[in-house]
Amino acid sequence: MKNPVFFGIALSLMAVTGIVHGQNTKTVMHSVGLLEVYLITEGERQGSPPRFVNANPRLIETYIPNGTVNSATNMFVVKTADGIVIIDTGYGAGILEGLQTLQIDPENVAAVILTHTHIDHVRGLLKNGVAAFPNAVIYLSAREADFWKRTGGERYTTAYKTVRTFDPVEIGLPGTAIINGITPFASYGHTPGHTVYMIESHNEKLLVIGDLVNVAEIQFPRPDIATIYDTDGNAAASSRRRVFEFAAQNGIAVSGMHLISPAIGLLTQNGAGFSFTELKQ
Ligand SMILES: [Zn+2]
Repeated sequence: MKNPVFFGIALSLMAVTGIVHGQNTKTVMHSVGLLEVYLITEGERQGSPPRFVNANPRLIETYIPNGTVNSATNMFVVKTADGIVIIDTGYGAGILEGLQTLQIDPENVAAVILTHTHIDHVRGLLKNGVAAFPNAVIYLSAREADFWKRTGGERYTTAYKTVRTFDPVEIGLPGTAIINGITPFASYGHTPGHTVYMIESHNEKLLVIGDLVNVAEIQFPRPDIATIYDTDGNAAASSRRRVFEFAAQNGIAVSGMHLISPAIGLLTQNGAGFSFTELKQ
């Protein structure tokens, strides 16, 4: 059934305002209220999905009939009143080209905020072994930082000039912005401290959901399905459902690190599942 609220909100939402193609990247221009938001994609791939931990072959075939899924690696750049902020850095193959496209000097990046510390989100912190953003403060949830310290993740943090940690609150509760316009919310499971971020300005919102979705083809319609990339599949699935419900019920646009560009859209709930409708240019 179509939800009239969905259309009412969609009309007032921002749209994708342009796409710039680079050699290794694609950059989607977007606005959220007065904030300029850029989604940089450094790679788009087609291939086999990762192994699912709780889906039988018949279920997988229903959603992925030819055995192939589409995936990308995305990161975000936000121009805020407090300076240039990056959310995740990808593998390092595209963030610097993306910044060049935007005419942003890496030295002028004020902060890098991380959803979690898997390599496809943090390797871009380094360039030739040194900090790619020498003046940036690095933000990571305290839970995530503790986990990686305990399990030998020091190599992820060698480039950090400063690591500032924070405790994200549950989605739906008022959170505290770590930078003006960017607020963290807990979505643990994919990793122990996985965090999503609400970008907000003048009543417009975009929720950056990190790796709540690794395989769009199956995890939007079946948010209960987890992959071997999840540290705790059950927790990841319940975070996914909770965040999806919140976004769908409030008409909040979402975007994620492995969705195909332009990768920004609205969620609609259909029974136990959700559908994702991209915002058009
Ligand atoms: Zn990832």
